[in-house]
Amino acid sequence: MTLSKPEVVALLEINTSSDACSYLRKKADEAGRLLTGNKAYMWGAIGLDYAPCPANCDFCSFGEAWGLIETEKIYTLPAILAKVKEYVDNQVHFIVLRTTQYYSLDTLTDYVQTIRQEVAGDYEIVVNVGEFDLPTANRMHAHGVEGVYHAIRLREGVDTRFQTKERLDTLSAVKQSPLKLIHLVEPVGIEHSYEEIANRFLCSLEYGVCISGIMARIPVKGTPLGEMPRLSDEEIAKMIAVLRLSGGKTVEHICVHPASELAIQSGANVVVIETGAIPRDKALITGKWLNFDYVAAKRFFEENGFII
Ligand code: SF4
Repeated sequence: MTLSKPEVVALLEINTSSDACSYLRKKADEAGRLLTGNKAYMWGAIGLDYAPCPANCDFCSFGEAWGLIETEKIYTLPAILAKVKEYVDNQVHFIVLRTTQYYSLDTLTDYVQTIRQEVAGDYEIVVNVGEFDLPTANRMHAHGVEGVYHAIRLREGVDTRFQTKERLDTLSAVKQSPLKLIHLVEPVGIEHSYEEIANRFLCSLEYGVCISGIMARIPVKGTPLGEMPRLSDEEIAKMIAVLRLSGGKTVEHICVHPASELAIQSGANVVVIETGAIPRDKALITGKWLNFDYVAAKRFFEENGFII
């Protein structure tokens, strides 16, 4: 059973520093551990192309119009294979290949097939790409893609140049295919109302989301939203707790990005590690973003009693 919109909004309205919020986070933590068998997962993203994107979303460092990318970098297959292997060798379960909007899906699909041949292990490949139709979704699945990260962003069509309809069409293609849908509520900032957040979460349930969660908007200087501060970890942890309790058994995994210990004590069981091209940073990241790597992620989980 999932909660109704008024119920989700009412929980989000709980004061973040109140005893009620501590209780909410505690109950969400208990519910998450019960539902997942106390299992936690690392999500390892690789940004494949550090390049200007003509879609110009107001929060994204890649927007061509913001002129933040000085020297392009497109990762080659051998470099991608090395990064995938590093993640898999370090227990990262979700290998996420992320691109800008118009990266070739044919190239990506070929890469996935090679990754599957070259890197043994218990992992799932997720792609985070532009729009696609059902035949493409089926083809990606046939080549070894297990899931797709795709989101209707908060204020889609206002802070982005997309129409919600075209993003929904891609979500429909995912729903009709064997691919899993991963859709966080994002990019959440101080500008969004609780109603907007509830709407986005409840909409993702209609498309069968299996990993939900909260991704904060990170202000990147030089982008239109670059001067708007990010939300506190406390507020994000509360939202994580609300999503965990609102999704019931329908949504098994709840992800938080950027990670905080408070969030994984509030119902989140998936955290993100990132390398390469990252829309939250104007620099190309050759290590791990904010130095949050699998060692730090494992420590968070192990110190809080999770099984990775
Ligand atoms: S968020 Fe995606 S679509 Fe928008 S500018 Fe960045 S890469 Fe392009």
